[in-house]
Amino acid sequence: MEKVLSIQGISKRYGRIQAVNGLFLEISRGQVFGLLGPNGSGKTTTLSILLDLVRNDSGSFEWFGEPPSKESRKRIGSVIESPNFFPYLSAVRNLRIVADIKGKPYDDIDEALTLTGLYDRRNDRFKTYSFGMKQRLAVASALLGNPDVLILDEPTNGLDPQGIAQMRDLIRMIAQKGITIVLASHLLDEVQKICTHVAVLRKGIKLFDGEVSEVLAVSELVEVSSENMEALKEAISGHAEYKSLTRSEDKWLVYFKNPVRPGELNEYMHRKGIVLTHLSERKRTLEQHFLELLNDNR
Ligand code: ATP
Repeated sequence: MEKVLSIQGISKRYGRIQAVNGLFLEISRGQVFGLLGPNGSGKTTTLSILLDLVRNDSGSFEWFGEPPSKESRKRIGSVIESPNFFPYLSAVRNLRIVADIKGKPYDDIDEALTLTGLYDRRNDRFKTYSFGMKQRLAVASALLGNPDVLILDEPTNGLDPQGIAQMRDLIRMIAQKGITIVLASHLLDEVQKICTHVAVLRKGIKLFDGEVSEVLAVSELVEVSSENMEALKEAISGHAEYKSLTRSEDKWLVYFKNPVRPGELNEYMHRKGIVLTHLSERKRTLEQHFLELLNDNR
């Protein structure tokens, strides 16, 4: 698949704070790529570096297989900060001003307004818009000039539930048009619902990346119980793939380093003289994976 973005070990330090720490990433055409991490994990700094708003201390990145340039920058639309439009001007007038500044024709304005659901309100003043409409106008403005990539920083921040749903639908529609999307979010649920791929960041370090569907399918988690829970714990912690366990009511939740087949586990326990009264595989959600990764790297 065609590479849209390739990041090779970028880092950025602000005084004592290492905001981004040796980040590597590959993003291909058509992906909806989520940078997921808690506040302060370096998401905004990363996006700002990719947009040449902040200079990285080391490492490099390529857009569309080439070092960043004015030309590549023209192929990228972004919404990084709160929208800044003229309050007394309509959406159309505001977008014309944006088009003038960007040196783009007015041709895309109607389509951008239609896609973002603002066409019927296009002649109303910006100041009469709801917060959700303002955010969507910012997306419309980023879409002027038909970019190949759209970068969004925390696209649903501050929106009410209806606004969140509308923004999610909008992002999906934009992705369907073939525009590659890179978004930052601290909300796991959001990334699960919108993104095809994810990279989990913590304190500027990438902990994990992959396809969201793959991460959802991870299943190295098994539930077990027996008459003697302590003997079971001791036996299972000797298994070659054993990683950790936690108690969940009357069962042990056991994490393995790699998937272990239930039949094989049953046999292993049998050899250790333990009769299992319960054995079942559990699909791990991205949430469990995310929390575990954050704990592992504390
Ligand atoms: P948030 O969602 O809270 O913005 P984030 O994951 O986007 O979090 P960044 O905004 O990239 O994270 O910040 C990463 C770290 O760098 C934080 O500790 C932040 O305080 C620090 N930082 C970011 N910008 C600056 C700056 N201009 N000067 C000093 N420190 C900064």
